Amino acid sequence: MFKKILIANRGEIALRIQRACREMGIKSVVVYSEADRDAKYVKLADEAVCIGPAASAQSYLSMTAIIATAEVTDAEAIHPGYGFLSENADFAERVENSGFTFIGPTSESIRLMGDKVSAKQAMIKAGVPCVPGSEGALPDDPKEIIRQARAVGYPVIIKAAGGGGGRGMRVVHTEAALINAVQTTKAEAGAAFGNPEVYMEKFLENPRHVEIQILADTHKNAVWLGERDCSMQRRHQKIIEEAPAPGIPRRVIEKIGDRCAAACKRMGYRGAGTFEFLYENGEFYFIEMNTRVQVEHPVTELVTGIDIVQMQIRIAAGEKLPFAQRNIVMRGHAIECRVNAEDPYKFTPSPGRITMWHPPGGPGIRVDSHAYTNYYVPPNYDSMIGKIIAHGDTRDQALARMRIALSETVVEGILTNIPLHRELMVDAKFIEGGTSIHYLEGWMSQHKR
Ligand code: ADP
Repeated sequence: MFKKILIANRGEIALRIQRACREMGIKSVVVYSEADRDAKYVKLADEAVCIGPAASAQSYLSMTAIIATAEVTDAEAIHPGYGFLSENADFAERVENSGFTFIGPTSESIRLMGDKVSAKQAMIKAGVPCVPGSEGALPDDPKEIIRQARAVGYPVIIKAAGGGGGRGMRVVHTEAALINAVQTTKAEAGAAFGNPEVYMEKFLENPRHVEIQILADTHKNAVWLGERDCSMQRRHQKIIEEAPAPGIPRRVIEKIGDRCAAACKRMGYRGAGTFEFLYENGEFYFIEMNTRVQVEHPVTELVTGIDIVQMQIRIAAGEKLPFAQRNIVMRGHAIECRVNAEDPYKFTPSPGRITMWHPPGGPGIRVDSHAYTNYYVPPNYDSMIGKIIAHGDTRDQALARMRIALSETVVEGILTNIPLHRELMVDAKFIEGGTSIHYLEGWMSQHKR
């Protein structure tokens, strides 16, 4: 096992990884930017190294600064967390070429899944059902684009092969709007992701977002750890996640879970990963794979009792998975609310000093957050300041515990989306379960203030 790991991230996930290391008796080094000098994980760190100014490009995205820090601190492995460099194949390659272990898949796997066109092709080969769409990337010839759109059937969605974070997508309802939409998306994708390639999918009108968590080791073992329903989204970004997904028959989930695990074995995938699907009319359709730990991993940890971050580290150290598929049982229900420093109804960021931070507690409550009273939320990064996760024997109990937790939580000095979560936890449709990815935006337009 490693003696020392460098954590190439910030915020709650840096603290989460630090805790996993501590429990395993591994020393950890955190890197931080000047804006994160007072962060909790820096104060609690075994070792902390400032690697640059607030701007991510000069700190958390600086491969040179991160690898140089691993060298001078004698770290053996690098955990990239999520976001930043976690899905950057060049970074994974440089880490390995510099003699360190990258805690994640091989750079080849990251590259294959990072391009959504090649990812879908790999899934089709591995027998994973995909959203019907174009035959790979769209060609330049307008006639051919029109032919493919007719074959798929309107409405269609044009998506950037290199897209991410809910950006680089455009819905097209009629043939008249098609070519213009393809050209605009191409131009935007080239500017935003450095790759103008786009592809087409059938636009599903009322799907849910349901994803499968997998773990695969380097000894040809792969398991899936149940599913998560992440349909509560706005602007294609998740704000509430839960496990299991309400109302989907277990045999349907088991079938897709087994396919995902089999695909991992076939692709020689290693580490943790997530297969993201849209689920509509009883069918799963693959949309993309994330080759890293997800923000919402705690809901899976609470229902399976498996520490996903520790498993990532064990797999990277070459250990075998300590369980087989039959040993994985989901117990009870877990729900996560992402706490964002933002105006809850306008969704504008609300950075600044937290004058009072009182997190909730009690049975079945877990809080993953780097915030504390007097912590200054810097304006430079993602607005998420933590996650509240509730676990119960049933969904009703998890919901009840989440309501109590949200009512106890006090955050003063900045705005957060906690008031929105309080409203959603008593919303009749959400309580019923199974709302689609468009539900929250519809709800917001009816609850304008
Ligand atoms: P990103 O990598 O930017 O997150 P995804 O391909 O995972 O992009 O899609 C993000 C979200 O966009 C999905 O969760 C869903 O809400 C919506 N979406 C993507 N593809 C489709 C589709 N074919 N039909 C309907 N909605 C879609």
